[in-house]
Amino acid sequence: MIPFNKPFLVGKETQYIEEAVLSGKISGNGIFTKKCHTFFEKEYHLKKALLTTSCTDALEMAAILLNIGPGDEVIVPSYTFVSSALAFVRQGAKIVFADSRDDHPGINESKIEELVTPRTKAIVVVHYAGVACDMDIVMKVAEKHGIFVVEDAAQAIDSFYKGKPLGGFGHIGAFSFHETKNIISGEGGLLTINDDNLTSRSEIIWEKGTNRAAFFKGEVDKYGWVDTGSSFLPSELVAAFLYAQLERLSEIQEKRKSIWKAYYSELLTLETQGKIKLPFIPDYATNNAHMFYIVVQNIAQRDRMISHLKTKGVHAVFHYLSLHKSKFYLQDNEYKELKNADKFSDCLIRLPFFFELEQMQLGYIIQQVKSFYH
Ligand SMILES: *Cc1c(COP(=O)(O)O)cnc(C)c1O
Repeated sequence: MIPFNKPFLVGKETQYIEEAVLSGKISGNGIFTKKCHTFFEKEYHLKKALLTTSCTDALEMAAILLNIGPGDEVIVPSYTFVSSALAFVRQGAKIVFADSRDDHPGINESKIEELVTPRTKAIVVVHYAGVACDMDIVMKVAEKHGIFVVEDAAQAIDSFYKGKPLGGFGHIGAFSFHETKNIISGEGGLLTINDDNLTSRSEIIWEKGTNRAAFFKGEVDKYGWVDTGSSFLPSELVAAFLYAQLERLSEIQEKRKSIWKAYYSELLTLETQGKIKLPFIPDYATNNAHMFYIVVQNIAQRDRMISHLKTKGVHAVFHYLSLHKSKFYLQDNEYKELKNADKFSDCLIRLPFFFELEQMQLGYIIQQVKSFYH
C-alpha cells in the first residue's frame, strides 16, 4: 500500500534533541526556540514569530490577543479544519461561515463583505493547500470596517502572495508543524504577529500571563502575573526537532514541488477531457506543494475513485466535512447552504504526497487514477 502521508526525517532531529538535553535546558524559549524564531523572522521578514505547541494553540492565542468574546462574530470559511473556528468559539464568539470560491477551496474573498455586521470582530482566512487567498481584497474589507484578520497559514509555509510571505498580511498568522505538513515537529505551531500593538502582549499570553519574556530581555526588573494566558510555548525538544527540519527547508520544498508538477502535468489530460479538475493557482499566489488534490464530479464518483485506488494499493483520502453542517455548530446555529464548500467536501480527493514518494510510485498512482476512467 502506498500511504497517503509519510513523515520525513532529515536525520539531524535526534542529534539536536540530544544537544538540547545535554545543554541542561529543556523547557521552552531556549536556544533552539530562538534559532527557529530567528529563522522565520530573517527568512520571511516576519515581524514577530513565536513557536507554539500547535497551530490550534496559535489560533487560540490569536483569539485571546484580539480580545474575542461573547457577542463578537468571526467570519471563517466552512471548508477548513475545526481549529480555524474552534479557537474563536472557545472565547465565546459566534462563527459566521463563509463559502469557498468556485475555482478553489479557499474563502470567496469577494463575498466576505456581505457577511460583515457591526458585531464582526475578525475574519479568518485559510490558505488552503498553501495557496494564498487574495489578501488585497481581504485587507481592504477589514480596514474599511475596522476588523482584524487572522491568517490560518497552517498549510502555507514558504508560500507567497504577490511576492510577500503568507502569515505576514493579517494582524496575526498561524502555522502548523503537525506531521502531515511540509515541515514537521510531530505536533507544533507558530504564531506570527504583524501588528506592533499586539507584540508585547503576545509574549505575555505565551508565557502563562506573566511578563517573563520581558524580564529576561531586561525590559522589566521583576516579573509577575499581568494578564491572561496559558502555556503555549513548546519545549526545547520540539524546537530542536523543528530546527533540524528548517535547515533543510529549501531541499524539502524543491522535492515536493517536483512531485506536484509531475502529478499536474500527467493528470492534465483528464482535466482537458473534462473528467476532473486540477488545483488552480491564481497569478498572485505561489505553490508550496503542500498537497495534490483532484476534484471529481460528485460524491458517488469520489467514493468509487477512493475505493478503486484502495484496491490498487493507493491510499487517497477526501478532506474536510464543511463545518457549517457539523453537529456541534448546528446545535446553536441555523443551517445555511454553502454550495462550494459542499462541493469540495463531496468531490475533492487528495493523492499520496510526501517527500519520499518515489518516481515509480508516483507513476503508478497516476496510472491508477487514469485507469479509473477506462
Ligand atoms: C493542520 C491544520 C490546522 C491544525 O494544526 P495543528 O498544528 O494540528 O493544530 C489548522 N488549520 C488548518 C487549515 C490545518 O491544515
